[in-house]
Order: sequence, then C-alpha cells, then structure tokens
Amino acid sequence: MSGVFDAEKLGRCISCGFCLPACPTYALTGDEAASPRGRITLMRALEEGRLDVTDPASLEQSSFCLGCRACEPVCPAGVEYGTLLEQWRDHQWQGAARPVLARWLMALVSRAWLLRLQGLVRGHARGKGEPRGAALLLGCVERGLYPEVSRAARELRGELAAPSGQGCCGALHAHNGDSRTGGAMAALVGARLPGVIVTTAGGCAAHLAAHLGRERVKEFSEYLAEHEVVPSGEVRVAGRRARVALQDSCHLRNALGVFAEPRALIGAVADYVELPGAAGCCGAAGTYSLLRKRDSMRVLAPKLDAIAEAEVDFVVAVNPGCLRQLRQGLKSRGSTVRAIHLAELLAMAQRDWTLSKRKGDA
Ligand code: SF4
Ligand code: SF4
Repeated sequence: MSGVFDAEKLGRCISCGFCLPACPTYALTGDEAASPRGRITLMRALEEGRLDVTDPASLEQSSFCLGCRACEPVCPAGVEYGTLLEQWRDHQWQGAARPVLARWLMALVSRAWLLRLQGLVRGHARGKGEPRGAALLLGCVERGLYPEVSRAARELRGELAAPSGQGCCGALHAHNGDSRTGGAMAALVGARLPGVIVTTAGGCAAHLAAHLGRERVKEFSEYLAEHEVVPSGEVRVAGRRARVALQDSCHLRNALGVFAEPRALIGAVADYVELPGAAGCCGAAGTYSLLRKRDSMRVLAPKLDAIAEAEVDFVVAVNPGCLRQLRQGLKSRGSTVRAIHLAELLAMAQRDWTLSKRKGDA
C-alpha cells in the first residue's frame, strides 16, 4: 500500500456500477475507464503499486474527470469520490505534471493583495462594519469577472458585511493537486470572516463547508431560505412573467444537497422552467473549461440545445464558473437567452425589471 489514498474511503466501492449513468464523461465515451468505477479501479492499482504515476491512463483519467461529484449522491456505498479525486491529483499532479495554466492561476489567487486590487478596480460590493454576524465571500473569480453579483447580493441583504481583505477560499488549489494549501486557505478565510460565511459560488460553498463545517457556510439561496426571505417584485418580458431556467452548481447540489432553494426563489419572481439535465454538469468544472476546452464544450452542447428548446428568457447560475460557461456557450450560438446569477435576477425583481420585447421579436 502506498498511502496515497484514504484506505477506508477507497475500500468502500463495491463496483456495483450504479454511478455509471450519472457520469458525464462516461456518457460521452461509453468507456469504463472514464467512469467513476473505472477511475476507482485505477486508484486502487496506484495504491497497490500495480500502476505507476506516469501511466498514461492514470494521467488522462485524473484530468478527464470533471470533478462534478454526480457519482456521489447515487452511490449506495457512500463513496466520497470528491475526496478520492483530490488525493489522486495531489499524488499525480506534482511539479511539471500539473498543467501550467493551473499553476499560474493558483499563484494568482494566492495573493490576497492582488485579489483586493482587482476587486477594487472592478467595483465589488462594499460592506461597512465588521463581519460579526454574516459576511459575504467575494470570491476570486467572481470578484474580477462578475462584481455585479456581490453588489446584487448586498442590495438584497444589506446586513452582509463584505470586507475586501478576505483572500481566496482555496478550492482552486484543492481541485488542482494541492489540497493541503487549499485547506490552509480555507482556514485563513474562516479566521478573517469569523461568523457565518455566505457565498454566491456553489464550488466555494462546498470547499469551505468541508473545512470550516457545514454550520458556518451558507450558499446564498440557502441563506435566504433559512432566513425565510420572500423575494419581492417580478421580472417581466414582453408583457408576461419571464421564463427562467436554472443550471445547478454540481458541488452545491451533489456535495451540499442544495437544489430546491434556488428553484423556489426563481419561482417567486418569474415562471420557473426545469431544463432536462439541469442537474448535470455544464462543463465549466473550475479550471476544466480552460484546461480541456474541447471536452468542456462537448459536455455543454446538449445543455445549450435544451435551453434553446425550452424557449426561456434567462438561465440562472449559482456559481461564477457556470455563469461564464453558459455566457460563452450562448454567445457562440448567437442565442438571445441571457445567463445571469440568481442574486442578479432577484435584485432585478426587487426593482420590478421589465423588458417590453425580447431581442429578435418583431
Ligand atoms: S456507485 Fe459507488 S459503490 Fe457502486 S461502483 Fe460507483 S462508486 Fe463504486
Ligand atoms: S466526478 Fe463527475 S466526471 Fe468524475 S467520475 Fe464522478 S460523475 Fe464522472
């Protein structure tokens, strides 16, 4: 035994195959090696020394896996696949084996001053006061790319403090072969934001909850539901309530079990439309959409088809990576459907946002 994996966790798999239909990479390829069960077989071979770290199948499958954890809720044996994947990449993605882009991004988000500067330039939410009760996590990706999301969250919940010197939660490190640093970064965020941490990113919520405890971490829709917030107003398009779909965040749904809350909130301000496959990964998967763009687009394609068929006005995301992925995909198809974050939709409703006619309508 090499001690790469937690032996008890690795031993839980009973090879039943119930997870296969839930796995997006198995659906793409039909290849057992690209399934959760196949990957666990590779992990066991690594653990028992029957496979070397340079083995092409092990390298390829540790990278091809989206880390979406759709295999977890369907597993009768309680296999914690996400933890095993982190241990696999910790072992496999060392030194030059870690993709250069991942190394570059990890270095970037490790610098709290850089995130702070980026956020100040982009204009993220500012929250006065100390984070005594609940504080809003500003995120690393969201702070730079979508500062309007944290502004919308604070517009809706003014009680949330939003101090800028909070750093990155470390999920990016944990998912790219450095779970030790990822855990230390989560602990640091926990110390800087001592109360409840509210996040608008499903991926950050799952990572922080794993390190700080479930009680201290609330995803935004979950926070609103727990506070029994009833959203006000409505979003209207062309004289009717807007038709709005949701793309689940994999980690939020599969790791934390949060999926009813965002649906209920959307349904309170618009006509909610359930997309076929809404629970499935959109292909963003953290750095996956950058590291394996072609595979990421293959995963996204059926989702874009479903959005087009559903004739919705908006598709809502609850994670910045999914938001970026959906926006890029919709743009590539020339779609008039807008991808927005849940906080933005609710803030629009609060302002009784109305569009007199859809783009492209006569
Ligand atoms: S469902 Fe669970 S126990 Fe069954 S093969 Fe998949 S990971 Fe193993
Ligand atoms: S994490 Fe997602 S892609 Fe990876 S094995 Fe599980 S279901 Fe498949």
